[in-house]
Amino acid sequence: MEANNSPTPPVPQGPLNNNDKTPTPKFNIYWIYGLIILTLIGFATFSTNRIKTTEPISEKQFTSIYLQNNWVKKIEIIDKESANVFLQADSIRTSARLKAILTAKKIEPSKNGYCFSFEINDNATFLKNIDEITKANPTNTSVDIYPGKSSGLLPSLYSILPFLLVIGLFVLMMRKMGGGPGGGGPGGIFNIGKSKAQLFEKGGTKVNITFAEVAGLDEAKVEVMEIVDFLKHPKKYTALGGKIPRGCLLVGPPGTGKTLLAKAMAGEAQVPFFSMSGSDFVEMFVGVGASRVRDLFKQAREKSPCIIFIDEIDAIGRARGKNAMASNDERENTLNQMLVEMDGFSGDSGIIVLAATNRPDVLDQALLRPGRFDRQISIDIPDLSGREDIFKVHLKGIKTSNNLDIHKLALQTPGFAGADIANICNEAALIAARSGKTEVTMQDFNDAVDRVIGGLEKKNKIISPDEKKVIAYHEAGHAVSGWFLEHAYPLVKVTIVPRGDAALGYAQYLPKEKYLTIKEEIEDRIAMALGGRAVEEMIFGKISTGALSDLTSVTKMAYSLVSVYGMNDKIGNISFYDPQSEGSFTKPYSEETGKMIDDEVRKLIEVAYIRVKKLLMDKLDAVKIIANELLEKEVLYKDDLTRLIGPRPFEGDDTNVTNITPEPIPVA
Ligand code: ADP
Ligand code: ZN
Repeated sequence: MEANNSPTPPVPQGPLNNNDKTPTPKFNIYWIYGLIILTLIGFATFSTNRIKTTEPISEKQFTSIYLQNNWVKKIEIIDKESANVFLQADSIRTSARLKAILTAKKIEPSKNGYCFSFEINDNATFLKNIDEITKANPTNTSVDIYPGKSSGLLPSLYSILPFLLVIGLFVLMMRKMGGGPGGGGPGGIFNIGKSKAQLFEKGGTKVNITFAEVAGLDEAKVEVMEIVDFLKHPKKYTALGGKIPRGCLLVGPPGTGKTLLAKAMAGEAQVPFFSMSGSDFVEMFVGVGASRVRDLFKQAREKSPCIIFIDEIDAIGRARGKNAMASNDERENTLNQMLVEMDGFSGDSGIIVLAATNRPDVLDQALLRPGRFDRQISIDIPDLSGREDIFKVHLKGIKTSNNLDIHKLALQTPGFAGADIANICNEAALIAARSGKTEVTMQDFNDAVDRVIGGLEKKNKIISPDEKKVIAYHEAGHAVSGWFLEHAYPLVKVTIVPRGDAALGYAQYLPKEKYLTIKEEIEDRIAMALGGRAVEEMIFGKISTGALSDLTSVTKMAYSLVSVYGMNDKIGNISFYDPQSEGSFTKPYSEETGKMIDDEVRKLIEVAYIRVKKLLMDKLDAVKIIANELLEKEVLYKDDLTRLIGPRPFEGDDTNVTNITPEPIPVA
């Protein structure tokens, strides 16, 4: 059974949602840069800078010719190193010799008249020479001396100005990226390549969460406990030649306690815990993600044994190169670095990487290979008793009245994740406090549930009682039809607890471990997938959109039976399977054949639908029993079905079940 999402188109997850993240424009900083540049330009314009000439004039030439002839109006001595010489306008007009020299030296008049400059060999001698000449032969030359660094600094400032600007801009961007105005914090300029991992360890912020605080999730806890043991006693396992897993993927919808479980794991193992989100790795600069990964693992190696937890790993772990146009090299680099690091440490190095995601299907296969995240722990939305346990955990710190009925609370909150329940408990306490009560009553909790439901309804997560009934019958239809169809897969469990994706409920089957499928199996599977809708039609006289994913899988199966596996009499032993042409619109068969295929598929599905409807009509009592039990318990396992409607008639199946390797498949 699948959620109908059509009325509410998904909200675009664009820049809109990131509004609060965009830093406020830092005009002040830009202004400062502007001012600095302007000041420098101003200095440059009015400063006494060296005047370049194409043909240099030596100090000796200057004193013996220019000064002697009284052609010089002004000398500026800069920094005891060079002299700027400004010539008398009169001399240029009157002296033919000077004119000739100036032309020869290609000295052109500037806005300060004719001028040039030269290096001074020794300042003291130079000054003495000037003094002697002007005394012996009185001239009206003025000598200005500019000591110190002020003017000498400017040219060097000029040469480093571009670098300053580049560095300045860089700093600016770093600070923007780092997010903090301080710039020196964990995200600051010098830490750009550092991981932003939060570290919890003894001494610092200690992880003191234990498994006791993680309610439900019993199977997950067992698996995690095993990993804790790996961390604590690696020798025990490696001594026998076993390889300790390096990574473990926690798969489940948001708020179901993945982070909590990872933290509890660190708490139980008493090891440091690095926590980071996948999206923290990726920045707009190439190489940053990879270097953060390196840094994270480096820190982890120093602290080992330890646990690294990466939330939302799909942010970096999406399959590479699927979408060539919008490929994100930076993300790929980050992912590659992660793979390299995970391959790099040996199993007994005491580092275990946990990652969380609710989209395992989009992950790059390379991440799931042995030696990486080869273990998967699935964490589902809690069922009734799970919710009860979670309530108990979160009620511990709350002063409640004695008449609080936790079971009833759990009943009222189908589909709620652990985080939602934590939220309810908190809301209830707040509501009670607002009305000045000394304890939190059932009424406060009911109000809190209503309030939280209000929020969740907007997210399309809440199921009304009527809908719940339809879902229960729909899933019962799958379960019962599968139970009595010889070639259908054996059932593992059936539930009306929604999964993280659109599925509102599902029945899980264990595929048989074999490679060949006979025609009857496909036909029975089609019938079973139609069982949900068939029951809806029989019981409620109307059908819902809940069968969408059933129908897509039915269509797929039917088409492959007819046109890929050559199992249809009319079409014959032909396979139009062409892996290369996937997604293209050219079909390797004629219009007529195409129509024939369509007709045969239609017929096949129709026959299966009639067959399953008849079957379910015969077993209507079983359907009702299962549906009612589902409404009460939310989850039923194979044993429950045996208890309720008797053993499955085709017991041969069960021999296969003992040696399970295939993943159970859900039928929504
Ligand atoms: P996820 O990482 O799966 O999104 P979190 O671990 O961050 O979810 O869960 C958020 C909060 O919800 C937790 O801090 C805890 O208070 C509460 N919570 C979730 N699952 C459970 C659980 N199984 N038992 C107790 N509390 C839970
Ligand atoms: Zn279904």
